[in-house]
Amino acid sequence: MDSLLSGILGGNRTLNPMNTFDVIVAGLGAMGSATLYQLSKSGRKVLGIDRFDPPHEFGSTHGETRLTRSSIGEGEEFVPLVLRSNEIWKELSAATGRELHRRTGGLIFTEGGGGSVLHGKDILAETIRIADKFGIRHDVLESEDLRKRFPDLKFGSGARGYFEYESGYLNPELCVQTNIEQARRSGADVKTGETIVSIDQGNGRTGVTVITDKGRYECGRLVLSTGAWIKKLLGESAASDRFRIFRQVMYWFNAEADYSEEHFPVYIRAGDNERSSYYGFPSVDGSRSIKVGLEQFEDESDPDNVNREVSVDDADAAFELVSQNFRIRREGARSKTCLYTVTEDFGFVIDFLPGTENVLVVSPCSGHGFKHSAGIGLLAKQVASGEEPFADTASFRFSVS
Ligand SMILES: Cc1cc2nc3c(=O)[nH]c(=O)nc-3n(C[C@H](O)[C@H](O)[C@H](O)COP(=O)(O)OP(=O)(O)OC[C@H]3O[C@@H](n4cnc5c(N)ncnc54)[C@H](O)[C@@H]3O)c2cc1C
Repeated sequence: MDSLLSGILGGNRTLNPMNTFDVIVAGLGAMGSATLYQLSKSGRKVLGIDRFDPPHEFGSTHGETRLTRSSIGEGEEFVPLVLRSNEIWKELSAATGRELHRRTGGLIFTEGGGGSVLHGKDILAETIRIADKFGIRHDVLESEDLRKRFPDLKFGSGARGYFEYESGYLNPELCVQTNIEQARRSGADVKTGETIVSIDQGNGRTGVTVITDKGRYECGRLVLSTGAWIKKLLGESAASDRFRIFRQVMYWFNAEADYSEEHFPVYIRAGDNERSSYYGFPSVDGSRSIKVGLEQFEDESDPDNVNREVSVDDADAAFELVSQNFRIRREGARSKTCLYTVTEDFGFVIDFLPGTENVLVVSPCSGHGFKHSAGIGLLAKQVASGEEPFADTASFRFSVS
């Protein structure tokens, strides 16, 4: 596959002021829409381009709910991102009257088998350590505490838990829609249904040319936030090798107990390995179903050819796992597929493409990016604008593995 970044389009460039921008944001999902919102507020001339019409169901940002927690067991470098994100959701909610972020409390529990694996980390131990370090309000729960506090959950003997008071969930579709609407109000140009087919970063320091299936645009800096399509845009390169794309499945199961959000939290069951772990949400908006997500990191996917069908065997296996803890019914279950873009250490990349100072890659998913997306939008705007970033970006470089 040829790299779309390698095209030589320079030569006789004639600049059309209508098609010339300070910054172009490629991809308007969770990260791109948040970046566009921040850039638009700063008064820069900005353009956002997306091949679909976000929010949509083809990438990584759909399915009604995204879990958010403040003590990030994946690594303490993420904590400033989520804390800042929470402030930005609040600001956006105040501006629009929309409830983007709902606090239900959050529970992480183990099965008592000894392990608590999520995203390559001992998530329970790390979450407790980081909560202590950052003063995040929580309780550590032993088996008996868990049973008393959550009588409608079944726990294995020796289970342990962590309860975080300010955890909850975000509505991903509404967040993306709000980012884009607010960016438009602040003067951003937005083009949807337009696919970027080629990018020329010139000498890597000055202007970038973006060619789509409908036009040609120039900018000083390009933010590449194309999610699971990032590998397609980077072609075969060391940069592209940082990312792997995995199809994941979300399930909605009808509940036989009352798991409504008014009194039940978001949760993560951290098992002995990735396959025995899952995460999920209470029944939201008056429904009687719970949504759960399972993860797999074995079969890679092409974002343009994703199998959107979920087999009966896979749904049976998910039911078997989740019904170890929840009182749910197999009948009437529904499911949706979604894509993770994963680095080998389940980290994020927020960095200029190696060898350039004008193409900023913002590709943070690794299965836990949404809760950080509002803060990442601010960080990306600061890095792209040459401003001092509010958080340390050292852990998010291309070279860090
Ligand atoms: C099932 C699932 C559950 C998750 N649960 C959680 C959770 O509970 N908590 C949490 O914090 N995170 C969670 N995540 C992770 C989080 O959702 C992602 O980190 C985040 O949504 C990634 O956003 P993105 O902007 O990188 O990608 P996307 O939102 O997919 O955006 C990429 C955009 O780029 C556009 N694009 C691609 N190529 C082109 C092109 N050539 N031209 C123009 N546009 C293009 C696409 O159309 C798309 O709109 C989950 C992810 C999944 C899949």
